[in-house]
Amino acid sequence: MIASDKPNVVVIGGGPAGSTVSTLIAQKGYRVELFEREVFPRYHIGESMIPETYWVLKRLNMLDKMKGSHFIKKYSVQFVGQSGRLSAPFYFHDNKPHECSQTWQVRRSEFDLMMIENAAEHGVTVHQGTRVLEVLFDGDRAIGVKVADPSGETREVFADVVVDASGQSSMLINKFKLRVPDPELNKGAIWTYFKGAYRDVGKDEGATVVLSVQGKNGWFWYIPLHDDIVSVGVVGDFDYLFKGRTSHEQTYAEELERCPAVKERVENAEQVEKIFATKDYTYRASQGSGDGWVLVGDAFGFLDPLYSSGVLLALKSGELAADAICDGLEKGDTSKDQLGHWVPNYLVGMKRMRRLVSEYYEGFNFGRFIRRFPHYTGRVTDLLIGDLFKDDLDEVIASMDQMKAEDEEARLMSTKEQD
Ligand SMILES: Cc1cc2nc3c(=O)[nH]c(=O)nc-3n(C[C@H](O)[C@H](O)[C@H](O)COP(=O)(O)OP(=O)(O)OC[C@H]3O[C@@H](n4cnc5c(N)ncnc54)[C@H](O)[C@@H]3O)c2cc1C
Repeated sequence: MIASDKPNVVVIGGGPAGSTVSTLIAQKGYRVELFEREVFPRYHIGESMIPETYWVLKRLNMLDKMKGSHFIKKYSVQFVGQSGRLSAPFYFHDNKPHECSQTWQVRRSEFDLMMIENAAEHGVTVHQGTRVLEVLFDGDRAIGVKVADPSGETREVFADVVVDASGQSSMLINKFKLRVPDPELNKGAIWTYFKGAYRDVGKDEGATVVLSVQGKNGWFWYIPLHDDIVSVGVVGDFDYLFKGRTSHEQTYAEELERCPAVKERVENAEQVEKIFATKDYTYRASQGSGDGWVLVGDAFGFLDPLYSSGVLLALKSGELAADAICDGLEKGDTSKDQLGHWVPNYLVGMKRMRRLVSEYYEGFNFGRFIRRFPHYTGRVTDLLIGDLFKDDLDEVIASMDQMKAEDEEARLMSTKEQD
């Protein structure tokens, strides 16, 4: 390969994170090569988007494509508690009266294809069916990748920066043993798709519904997609869902029985796909970048899918990394610190979302919280739509702690009185 052909950046993986980072770098005129082991369209879970994706999609010039797509529009989230009672729709627009408050429910095979094609339109050289076998290093510095072309032939591609966007394969987390697991959120998921299942009409058709499973720490997602398909999955503790059970099919059927609100929604529908299952435990990398390399999306970390934050985090980290890489290339600095300067603030945002997830599993009552602190309604909404990177959100978290402390004090008082 002649020197002038050398890309500035190579990207491993063409999911939402990989397509985002590569498109934004190519927009600045740099040469980017993206290697995706699959040939798109390929199946992927992760279908419900949240409103803050809007701003990254805008930078990617994806908004018109999304608006012109057949994806179902999502305006709200609804919760069904253990009692089976359906909450009022939680409309994003009430908090932010802007078109960004409408988002989409997507088939990832189609969305990811649109994103990777959009990357190519912006000048990224996309290689599909091309697996990255390893990241090449000179000492501690990443200098490129070794890839296997669709024919099986291998070659080395050198670049100033290597971006790992390989999703849960997390190539560099594994290589450097950077995985920090989150034992509290050690979950699993089992899901499938129904045709002709219940769906609301009008503005509520595309609402994600999160339904608690009776007596268990689990929940179902209910995500209406186009072509009259609904994605329906159960998430629960990994041991509970996968240990000592007969089969995923059987477990799924048993959990449906424990969630009458889902069961009645799918009763007269046809199951149109197989049962899928995955461990979806939460983790993050202990280090987000090194000299010449940086991690984005699930290759950096993954958060329980309760609030549908995965695609947002993939887009957001892709955007932040792209800006850091472009600044670095301009200054001739592709050091660990330059490529990863966004990571600490990103982690703070991720931790805020994690806190909300963890509160849900601990049975925290958001309705009661809003009644106690009504002035925080907007800020709780900000967290739920993925607007995670503002310091004033920490006041909400502090008040959650305050309410929990008050509850604990009340509990102790009542125990004392009974004694
Ligand atoms: C059960 C479950 C439900 C979820 N629900 C939601 C949801 O409703 N909403 C939401 O926003 N998120 C959801 N998520 C999360 C979402 O799926 C991910 O966060 C998102 O796909 C991350 O995007 P990514 O680009 O980082 O990784 P991916 O989308 O996984 O893309 C990584 C790409 O890298 C490629 N790759 C891997 N290794 C190599 C290699 N060696 N060489 C070349 N290519 C490689 C893969 O083929 C893949 O295409 C869910 C996740 C789970 C597990």
